[in-house]
Amino acid sequence: MMAQDLPDALALQPFEAHESNVRSYCRSFPTLFRRAKGTVLVDRAGREYLDFFAGAGTLAFGHNPDFIKERLIAYLEADGISHGLDLYTEAKAEFIDAFVRLVLRPRGLDYRLQFTGPTGANAVEAALKLARKFTGRSGVFAFSGGYHGLSLGSLAATANRGKRAAAGTGLHDVTFVPYPDGRMPAPDTLAWIERLFTDSHSGVELPAALIVETVQAEGGIHPAPVAWLQDLQTLAQRHGVLLIVDDIQVGCHRSGPFFSFERAGLRPDLVVLSKAISGYGLPMSLLLLRPELDIWQPGEHTGTFRGNQLAFVGGTAALERAAELGLAALVEQKGSRCRQWLQERVAPLDARLAVRGLGLIWGLDCAALPEGFASRVSARCFELGLVIETAGRQDAVLKLLPPLTTPDAQLDQGLAVIEQAVRDSLRG
Ligand code: PMP
Repeated sequence: MMAQDLPDALALQPFEAHESNVRSYCRSFPTLFRRAKGTVLVDRAGREYLDFFAGAGTLAFGHNPDFIKERLIAYLEADGISHGLDLYTEAKAEFIDAFVRLVLRPRGLDYRLQFTGPTGANAVEAALKLARKFTGRSGVFAFSGGYHGLSLGSLAATANRGKRAAAGTGLHDVTFVPYPDGRMPAPDTLAWIERLFTDSHSGVELPAALIVETVQAEGGIHPAPVAWLQDLQTLAQRHGVLLIVDDIQVGCHRSGPFFSFERAGLRPDLVVLSKAISGYGLPMSLLLLRPELDIWQPGEHTGTFRGNQLAFVGGTAALERAAELGLAALVEQKGSRCRQWLQERVAPLDARLAVRGLGLIWGLDCAALPEGFASRVSARCFELGLVIETAGRQDAVLKLLPPLTTPDAQLDQGLAVIEQAVRDSLRG
């Protein structure tokens, strides 16, 4: 019997029988997916789902965008290099040229590009290693609620206790400080950090770096205030501590401008990018470093898969398309559509709901409702044909991450499903 002839429960049986228990997202969306286009996923039975998760924000242009697919097919047809280690290749040269021309130069930014292993975690590892090597210090400051990956170095800077417990070994050299997420009445995080940096009896050494997301995504959609971000940079500079911005999830226009830190006019020492950078969901990660920091010895941070040429081809096309479309403005416009719907039609359904976000990353905070509420809404959305995940403590925040180019009609359709699912969950 072919997979397509199997009843649903049986179709999922190979995964349940043979795939590790570590699998995660598939548990929230238990169907056998077959194909996808734009903002629509289609399962084996031909059922369509709107995708407001978009590969955790990876699919900025949706699934299989034709303008990239065509270039990939042409590249494959011509037997272009597909795996290139870190060899000089045309595909990589074109990506570097596009990145410098379309992203760095117009913003007056001067960074060297380091292609790391293809996961976000590996780019974070590289950033932390380089910061330590450059400063000769081992400590790092990170923020409660922050997420930077699950490899040991990046996991040490990831706040989630459940994920940390899985390390099975010590996670060293990271000091966590509160993020300005409104959990405490205006905690003066910056004064706290300054105190820890300067007090000879603080118990904490001056760190190599501060690593921060300008909008905590996995942490539950918390945009940091602009003034706080600016003061954080000033504080880091004053003490010779490097500022690492993790733009893996909210970079590449997710928050509006290409870099999420543009809204605060920051000039981070190090920036990590991944997820949406290849435009097609092909694995690729990038560390941007100030030229003075480039003290690596050749091969000191290496990896077999730093040269996914198809990702370079896709990434070049994505950068060009973003510039042609004026993606920043488009994201603002689509983002305010989401905000309006959430604020005017969803939040009023219950006074305990709260809405946060910017660009095209929005959260419906359900933490004040009984535990599990957001997960129930997500499950109900799936029944109604919408893929949407949760984030934050106790998974209490419903997280909207639609492709940035989702047509307005599909945005509205997805938002209407969320509204319906919240109504149903409040009743249930
Ligand atoms: N940093 C941030 C901000 C992320 O959102 C993620 C992934 N959710 C990572 C790092 C880790 O990326 P990866 O899963 O590709 O290792």
